[in-house]
Amino acid sequence: MPVLVMKFGGTSVATLDRIKRAAKRVGVEVAKGYDVIVIVSAMSGKTNELVGWVNETSKFYDAREYDAVVSSGENVTAGLMALTLQEMDVPARSWQGWQVPLKTNNAHSSARIEEIPTDNINAKFAEGMKVAVVAGFQGISPEGRITTLGRGGSDTTAVAFAAAFGAERCDIYTDVDGVYTTDPRITDKARKLDKIAFEEMLELASLGAKVLQTRSVELAMRFGVRLRVLSSFEEQSDEAGTLVCAEEEIMENRPVSGIAYSRDEAKMTLISVADRPGIAAAIFGPLAEAGINVDMIIQNIAEEGRTDMTFSCPVDQVARAEKALNAAKDADQINFHDLIADTNVAKVSAVGIGMRSQSGVAAQMFKTLSDEGVNIKVIATSEIKISVLIDRKYMELAVQALHDTFELEKA
Ligand code: ASP
Ligand code: MG
Repeated sequence: MPVLVMKFGGTSVATLDRIKRAAKRVGVEVAKGYDVIVIVSAMSGKTNELVGWVNETSKFYDAREYDAVVSSGENVTAGLMALTLQEMDVPARSWQGWQVPLKTNNAHSSARIEEIPTDNINAKFAEGMKVAVVAGFQGISPEGRITTLGRGGSDTTAVAFAAAFGAERCDIYTDVDGVYTTDPRITDKARKLDKIAFEEMLELASLGAKVLQTRSVELAMRFGVRLRVLSSFEEQSDEAGTLVCAEEEIMENRPVSGIAYSRDEAKMTLISVADRPGIAAAIFGPLAEAGINVDMIIQNIAEEGRTDMTFSCPVDQVARAEKALNAAKDADQINFHDLIADTNVAKVSAVGIGMRSQSGVAAQMFKTLSDEGVNIKVIATSEIKISVLIDRKYMELAVQALHDTFELEKA
């Protein structure tokens, strides 16, 4: 039997009624002849509540116990989903992560999946079971402790199961009806995409389009798992939602597919550092050790052996970055005159695989921003992305103008 993976996010299993509705969709796929693996999240809000309880109980908590607590939300929905399917006369059984067993490393609260043996579940399919309901987000460490995969980790569970079982597709049911050219809250011209390439989705996911956990997209790309993002609140059809797939499956070739943004960025500048071999390593080494997610970097032209170094990072990491750099200065590893943090910036990015083969995209982007009077503070590019750092107050304006200039409202 062909295998289909269906993942239901927290809002899609938020109540018993919604679980019923989700189960009906599963029933439709079973009737088509699929063996279905259902991955469930916790009921919406549940994981936040559990995390809150952990924080309230223990300030510097033991991560193993954090995982024991926060993984429990998914156990409830997995059992309820199996029961609901059984009530519909669909043979179903639930699995917690350790029962599969979904094996992870022991990085508690952000564990990586190492192996998913298929024999256990396949044996049940062979006996006539139609649906395996698996609790998302959780696994078991080499020490035999429960682990979790990081917030939003059920997406990654779903993709990993699709890869392990060679599923035809992995359908991610959520509360939005697909992936959009940009955030519909910023412009009503935002259009739902029928298809998007893995690479583009990866850029959009990591740039803050919070539809899928970034790691799940990486995994899907690596194993060629076709992912469909669709709403569990709308009518089901085979064309619904957005298909995330290999770029060969996508015919249209426009330079830009989407405009992403990230509101909470900061720009930090080290004024007057010595321009000598090893200076970048001396600055970014301590930042890496402090866990700072450095994104864009520019080094200015040196004058009289000194230069300025600018980088961007999430705004909530500024204090930690300052501490790390000042400590490195005190230890004489680096030397600078001043450290300036600009915490009022945002990042706006144009993303598209078509950029690889079309020139002039950057020029058009910069011209559009200049026509709107938006000053660009930092620029970074990759093969399929151009990002700029601008004042946060112009972020929405920039997104709207770029969406217009690249005509993204047109199919
Ligand atoms: N319930 C977990 C969370 O809220 C995992 C998930 O739903 O993907 O992060
Ligand atoms: Mg999610």
